[in-house]
Amino acid sequence: MVPAMNVGFIGLGAMGQHMARNLHRAGLLTGAWNRTKSKSEALASETGCRAFSTPAELAADSEVIFTCVSADDDLLSVIEALLPGLRKGTIVVDCSTVAADTARKAAARLAPAGAALLDCPVSGGVEGAKNATLAVMCGGDQEIFERALPVLSVIGKTVALLGPTGAGQATKATNQILCAGVIQVVAEAMAFAQAEGLPLEQVIEVLGKGAGSSWYFVHRAPFMARGEYPAGFRVRLHDKDLRICRDMAARHGATLPVVESTLADYKRLLETGHGDEDISTIFRLKAPLFSGGK
Ligand code: NAP
Repeated sequence: MVPAMNVGFIGLGAMGQHMARNLHRAGLLTGAWNRTKSKSEALASETGCRAFSTPAELAADSEVIFTCVSADDDLLSVIEALLPGLRKGTIVVDCSTVAADTARKAAARLAPAGAALLDCPVSGGVEGAKNATLAVMCGGDQEIFERALPVLSVIGKTVALLGPTGAGQATKATNQILCAGVIQVVAEAMAFAQAEGLPLEQVIEVLGKGAGSSWYFVHRAPFMARGEYPAGFRVRLHDKDLRICRDMAARHGATLPVVESTLADYKRLLETGHGDEDISTIFRLKAPLFSGGK
């Protein structure tokens, strides 16, 4: 049983709209604000929640505020816009993917108003947002996390506190580095198998059960075999996330080869109009390696 709380939602994009609907189904969603007003008005007429005119109005009515916006500057501008209406004790749950430092900046802006931030980036894509099966990686105070946990459990299946503010984003960045390495190697292996003239569907079937398998091999190698890359995890979004990883690594004085080579590949894919395809489209750059191409 989720305790009664007024929950407001900001950022009704591909992810946020589904998370907001799940909060509504749990009886928690009281209001929403979206930069493009038609989206919050549509959600209000669907769910009966209020469509607020400003983030500050939403803040004045909410005990928990979810944010799920595009990038770092977007989050910081939303936080500024919340400040005039914020109530003491409010918890802001940010599900955007931003740098750990941005989460810490946001928390520092909220603190004087007596409000707390939990950085809670998610993994699992639009499907996970729709089905409430997201992995939610949290950073913040233990006591705040425990207060928010019943609400967080409404949007995700795996919810974990990884450390203080910023730890959720650092964990998400770790995940994005993993995704880069795995998609790279799946694409190279598939290009090799293709060059060897192997039956690709059968190779996926057999190796999918082997030690070198992974979620990406089982679910995305078939895209490569078919040469179709429907929008899933978009190149454009992963590119944004890997830039965050690059900057975070640079703070330790490190340059990560897998991150750099993936960013170089994504630059080529973005320039050639493949930015809205699933990241398995990186196969487009690997198959030509076997015909003397680069
Ligand atoms: P999206 O569909 O592009 O939606 C972005 C949302 O942010 C929209 O509601 C947009 O408002 C709002 N927004 C952007 N800039 C804003 C600003 N300056 N002020 C106020 N609102 C602003 O993106 P998404 O796919 O939902 O992703 C949202 C976040 O989740 C991103 O950080 C992304 O990296 C992360 N994420 C995405 C996925 C995925 O599979 N899509 C998976 C995990 C995590 P408008 O409606 O007015 O444009």
